[in-house]
Amino acid sequence: MAQAPERGVPAGYIAPLAAVDSARFGIAIVTADGREFAGGDGDMTFSIQSISKVFALTLALGVAGDQLWTRVGVEPSGTAFNSIVQLEHEQGIPRNPFINAGAIVVTDVLLGRHEPREAIGEMLRFVRMLAGDKDIFVDETVARAEEETGFRNLALANYMRAFGNLRRPVEQVLGVYFHHCALAMSCRQLARAGRYLMTGGRHPETGHSIVSARRARRINALMLTCGHYDGSGEFAFRVGLPGKSGVGGGILTIVPGVASIAVWSPGLNERGNSQLGTFALERLVHRTGWSIFDPRPG
Ligand code: GLN
Repeated sequence: MAQAPERGVPAGYIAPLAAVDSARFGIAIVTADGREFAGGDGDMTFSIQSISKVFALTLALGVAGDQLWTRVGVEPSGTAFNSIVQLEHEQGIPRNPFINAGAIVVTDVLLGRHEPREAIGEMLRFVRMLAGDKDIFVDETVARAEEETGFRNLALANYMRAFGNLRRPVEQVLGVYFHHCALAMSCRQLARAGRYLMTGGRHPETGHSIVSARRARRINALMLTCGHYDGSGEFAFRVGLPGKSGVGGGILTIVPGVASIAVWSPGLNERGNSQLGTFALERLVHRTGWSIFDPRPG
């Protein structure tokens, strides 16, 4: 089917993603005072893919604390999400936790001494708790398709293992990584799951601290500088908010203190980020003055 150029091109590297209707568009906004808005296909589930890297990082920081930063950097990569080029120069330490190499190290930390099945279960429970929704699931068809075609990720993982930056067997780490990428969520579920990043680390329903305010601030900083790979500068320029994209066409965006927003449109730009999703966020921020670079009233 011919694609309208302004919608970009959906990911085609695995059949379940290639099969998604490219005309879909969804949005959901959850505000700090608890209001919820959803539009279009905002309640339809999609593959969150790399957006799961935010939740994996949050959990891994709980396991390893700031020691994690000895194994993963905090600098934008300026390279594609699945690039291997910097790893040789930088002795197997990935630039940041939001490129594939970084998320694979983060997943190794999550695995710890667990069996892969337990680590996947922990991740699923965590995301369900964040969203307050027990219906969130891992799409096994997507996870299996990733496993069958994940040659680049295998290369990244093996390369880092050679540098001693991966503790667990490559197959196990990637098994868990592919499963958290295969989480299926709607924009509404995703916007709810992101609320702790708008509230300085607190769960808005239970009041429990998910992460410290300092950690929430740092995760937001990494989303702003690294959340869109080599398109992070452009996203900051156009939208001006912490955001994390996934190759399934979703973007989770945080307006600290104000809102958690998720958009979804499967068509991607040349850097693998949702084309229409970015455009929608750009328009929303223009209308609301929600960019972190807009002056706050008062
Ligand atoms: N599962 C995908 C991969 O590892 C995630 C990439 C993405 O969403 N950018 O290649």
